[in-house]
Order: sequence, then C-alpha cells, then structure tokens
Amino acid sequence: MQQKEMYPGIDCFRLWAALLVVAIHTSPLAMFGSMGDFILTRVAARVAVPFFFMTSGFFLISHYAENANRLVRFVKHTCLIYGLVIVLYLPVNVYNGYFQMEQLAPNLVKDLVFDGTVYHLWYLPASVIGAVTAWYFVRRFDYPKAVLITAGLYAIGLFGDSYYGLAEGVWGGESFYRFLFQLSDHTRNGVFFAPVFFVLGGFIAESRRETDLFTSARGFGVSFALMLGEAMCLRCFGLQRHDSMYVFLLPCAYFLFQMLLHVRGKRRKRLRTLSLLVYLLHPMVIILVRLFAKGLHLQGLLVENSVVHYVAVCLLSVGGSMAAAGVWERYGPHRKDGGNRRSGDRTYVEINLQNLEHNVRELRRAMPSGCRLMAVVKAEAYGHGSFEIATHLERSGVRAFAVATIDEGIRLRTYGIRGEILILGYTDVGRAAELKKFDLMQTLLDRSYAEELDRQGVRVKAHIKIDTGMHRLGELSVETGRVKQMFELEHIDVRGMFTHLSCADRLEEEDVAFSKKQIDRFYALVNELRVEGVRIPKLHIQSSYGLLNYPELRCDYVRAGIALFGVFSSPEDDMIVHLDLRPVLSLKSKVVLIRSLKKGECVGYGREFTAERDSRIAMVPAGYADGYPRGLSCGKGSVRINDCLAPVIGRVCMDQLAVDITDAGGVEVGDTVVLIGGEMGEGASAPELAGRCGSISNELLSRLGTRVRA
Ligand SMILES: *Cc1c(COP(=O)(O)O)cnc(C)c1O
Repeated sequence: MQQKEMYPGIDCFRLWAALLVVAIHTSPLAMFGSMGDFILTRVAARVAVPFFFMTSGFFLISHYAENANRLVRFVKHTCLIYGLVIVLYLPVNVYNGYFQMEQLAPNLVKDLVFDGTVYHLWYLPASVIGAVTAWYFVRRFDYPKAVLITAGLYAIGLFGDSYYGLAEGVWGGESFYRFLFQLSDHTRNGVFFAPVFFVLGGFIAESRRETDLFTSARGFGVSFALMLGEAMCLRCFGLQRHDSMYVFLLPCAYFLFQMLLHVRGKRRKRLRTLSLLVYLLHPMVIILVRLFAKGLHLQGLLVENSVVHYVAVCLLSVGGSMAAAGVWERYGPHRKDGGNRRSGDRTYVEINLQNLEHNVRELRRAMPSGCRLMAVVKAEAYGHGSFEIATHLERSGVRAFAVATIDEGIRLRTYGIRGEILILGYTDVGRAAELKKFDLMQTLLDRSYAEELDRQGVRVKAHIKIDTGMHRLGELSVETGRVKQMFELEHIDVRGMFTHLSCADRLEEEDVAFSKKQIDRFYALVNELRVEGVRIPKLHIQSSYGLLNYPELRCDYVRAGIALFGVFSSPEDDMIVHLDLRPVLSLKSKVVLIRSLKKGECVGYGREFTAERDSRIAMVPAGYADGYPRGLSCGKGSVRINDCLAPVIGRVCMDQLAVDITDAGGVEVGDTVVLIGGEMGEGASAPELAGRCGSISNELLSRLGTRVRA
C-alpha cells in the first residue's frame, strides 16, 4: 500500500547518465579532436556515476533512520548483481590473461573490493561500501556532520585523482597516496568518492522542497561552468592522475538532482533497471561491435568513425538491456506484495495513504484560511504507524506535528521529520537538552513546571497550556499573572498557547454552553495578556471535534488526531460540519483453518459457545495481543470475509479467535478477513466495534499490537 514517490525526471536521467558512461568508454567526439572529447567524456560525463549514487542515497538513506532493512536489502541485491556480472565477464578476463598475472590472489582481492575485475565494475563494490559508510555517518551523526565528514573523504580522494599533481609536491603526500594505491588503483572508490553522494541523496530526500526550479537550474549552470573551468586548469597544468573527481562536481551533482526532482508525473521504474543494465552490459557490447566489425571488415565505419561507433554501441546496449529486462521480468524472482510481506503472512495493518491525503484536504477545507493543521501522531499515530503516517503527511505539506512524549518526538526527528513538533504531555525537565537538540516544543503544564524547566538553563521552545475547565493539565485561565510570568522566563521561548475542550464531541445544550465558556475564558485571558503588553504567540483550541463542532473559531492551529485517520470516536457522534472522512486503517488477517461443528459442540476457553446447529467455523490468527479486544468475544464482534459478516464465537484468545461462517457463503482457507476497517454501518468499522465493547475508536486503534505492523 505504501505509495512510491514519482520522480520520472530522475528515472529518465538515469538512462542518459548510463549513455554518458558509454561515451566515456567510446569517446564519440574523438574524431573531431581531443578538446571536445575531453569536455564530453572527462568533464560532462563525470556527473553520471555520482548521479547513480545520489539516486540510491535518495531512495534509501532517508529511511535508514528507521531500521537497517533497506540497507541490508540494497547490499544483498548489489552483491548479487556484482556476482552475476563477474561471472558474465569471466570470458573477457580469461581472454585478457587476467588469471595469468603475478600475485593473482592479492590483486584479485583488491579488484573484488575496490577496482572491479573489469574496469567499469568498480561501481558495484563502490556502491556497497559507499552506502554502508554513508549510512553509518548519517546514523551516528546528523546530516550536516555526515556531509562534512564524507566531503572530507572526498577531498582526500581529490588529491589522489585530478589534484594528484599537488599532493605529489607536498611532504608525505606521495608516500601516503602510494600506500593508498597499493590497496586501490584509484581514490575514485567506495571510501573516498561514493559516500558523499549517498549522503547528499539522502539529504535531498528529506529537504527536497527547499530549492525551487530556478535556483536549481542556476546552481547547476554555474557549478557546471566552474567545473569546466576547473578541469581545463587542471589539464593545462598537467596535475591530473585521473579525471573522475572535481571540487565542483559536488554542487553540480547536487543541483542537477534538485532540478530533476521538479519533473513530476508517472514513475518510470523500468528505466532504472534499464539504465543499470546498460551500464553493466555496454563493455560487452563494445567488444561484440569490435569483433563484428573486424569479421565484416567494417572497422572503418563501425569503429574508427567514433560517432557511428558510439551510436551503434548505445543502440545495441539499450536493445540488449531491454531484452534482458524483459526476460528478467518474466522469469526472475518476484516479490508478491510490497513492503508488508512478513506481517501479511498473518495479521497485519493496511494503511490507505490516499485516504489519509483525502482527509487532510477535507480538514483543511473546514479550517479558516491562515490556520494550520497540526497532525496529532501520538501513540504510533493512533496505531497506524508513525513513520509511514508522519513522513507521508510531511510530503503532503503538513508542517506541524504533535506527540504525547519526548521519545515519540525524537523518533519523528530520526525519521527525518523537519516540521515543528509539539509534545502535548509531561517531559522530565532533566531532558531539556534533548528538547533543544531535537528541536522539540514542550507543553508547559503550569507555572511551576515552567520555572523548573527554565532552571535547567537550556533554551527550550514551548507552548503554554491553559486550563479552562477540563482540569487536566494547564495553568488556570484566571491566573493571568502566573501566565504572564511564564512568558518572562529567560530560557523559555514561548511559541504558542493553547487549551483543550472537554466535551467538544457533544452537542447537548449544556455541553455546548460549557465549551463556549471554555473558549470565552481562553480569549479573556488572551485579552488580559495583550493589555499587559505580552506579545501573543500562536493560539490553538480545537482538536478534531473542536473543529467539527466549532468551525467558526479563528485559531493558528487545529490539533487533529482521530479525524485525520478518517473515523469518529463513537458511532453515535453528531457534528455541525459534515466532512467526507475515509478510514485510513484496516486490520486484516486470513482464514487459516475451517472446521465443521456438530450441534452441541463447544468452541474455545470456558466453553462459552455451544453450536445450536451443525456449523462451519473459521479460525483467524488474531487475538487480543494483536489489539482485537477481548471484549468483543461471544458475538459482540464480527469480521468481514468476502463481504459477508461473520460473528466472533467463544472467547477471543491472546493470539486467535473463531468466527461462525455457516451463513457466510463459500469461505475458503486463505480468504482475507477484515477485522477492523470499512465504513461505518458495514459491521467492522472502528467506531462500531469500539462502541460494542464500551470504548472509542481512539483506544481501539492506539492499542493495536506491535506485531501487526511491518
Ligand atoms: C490527543 C490530543 C488531541 C487530538 O485529539 P483528537 O480528538 O484525536 O483530534 C488534541 N489535543 C490534545 C491536547 C490531545 O491530547
């Protein structure tokens, strides 16, 4: 279900980049003199491989923070490809006399780890080492530091590459690099070259909205021109030992990538595969074209005419790669479904991100202009999984989040969330430094708490909570003086002030009167503070029901939780504003066993269910440890199988439950079971189920077990 971002610009350029690499190895402009060839193959084409690294970094690193699975998959995948192409090129190695060389073993190790057994294959080990190195630094430090460190490595690489002439002259430089070159033929490898591009790719993934098209295009133009100048000078002074690395290659690759991100549309995943195949296969094609030309005595046309040679190699490489990709697609191993495979084996949460986006739009429609949506993603985004929800919300333009605890806030930061994050609940003041480090805003529970936090001596951003009648957290709204003091604390940077309504979800007259009183108290305080000369910060009052029942308020934020996830708390709730909200989460499982029951036989613990007729029952591997409430035992709950409702029979166990499918038509083992999901009235929606066991959707969803999420 996870939606893949679509960057056709990146996908298309990958193919162009691969063709640039072909140019490096065929020198199409050679017949017109050396300058054109130098500019094309030694300068312009040098953006190709960094671009590949950045693409991998872009799609991978931003998710590394969560876990290492993607990295492990990337490394395995790359190693597998590496193994296959090594085998593919073995005949070439044999032909070249590779295995006759002296000191075969150490050279073989060196080639496998750094240089590649055929010259262009260095790219694959460099990807693996580069990805792991980049990942390590991003995890260990933050992005700016990781960029600095890997740029440092790149600098070391530069002096072993196109600035070698300078390093040679420096004391110790020559011996240092001589030592390096014993380990790896070039510094253009996984240690010095690749990591910085992986980190930059990841960095862009998390901040990509920040450079507009014009800035990126200008940045690219300028840095490309500078790189060209740089290359010319180096060539002029004869400093280059090799010509893969330039100082201005870094900004050049960065801005190029930014620029391509602006191309939106349908994803071209096949082009990615194709470009990799072209990269890997083109040397083979070069050999074949040469052999073919020799056989037919066409060397004059096919080889010596460098343009024809290049075009022939390109066409054959692309054609061959398309054929290979087709074969792979047909006969290669395929994953059945994306992402959730492991948990999909049993009971799993399915998230509908389109519905989430839809709900964001609906809520925004009800909000006054100038008011921002603060997405409440506490408790794993109400059980939906905070990583997937928060990263997607940020991509859809949400810039403010709220959580319940500091650790939830820190987790959002490690997921790469950049928007503001407000902690709604208590945080031990001893953790003030972490609040600052992760740029989290703390709710001030009352004045004494604020003072204690202030005493930590760390500058912390905060929102003041005002108690207007809920009597949970907050400084009393009548205590104007105390509230004012909070604004004056030296280390507290008050960014907001808010209150919470205690019965915004009810429309009985008394409740409405109470809510209005709360709202009046809040604004009375705001006015008094204003009179006292306090600069009024951002204000917010409404949660989901606050917005739906008091849409007329003009606040700076709406703190929406449950509505964002497309369900109401209870089935009987009524609202002033009617929005088309759609449920985001489904809890699904499958039928693992079907059995027949004779009249009079019992099911489950305590023999609570006795068949009143000959029955068919299905076992579902989901229980209260997965978050399916035990309160839904014995017919209170029902599940949907193939659009029929099947009642839960007997007691819900920790890990499984039984349903009666006698009337549910032709259910079979393996059929999907919807435990929670669908619209209200369909029998398995969160509000209905919650209502039937004396709770609300919020509790039902937020208590989903950890084992149902991937
Ligand atoms: C949880 C919470 C919210 C979100 O409430 P919903 O009813 O889920 O929208 C808003 N404000 C505060 C203070 C909360 O604790």
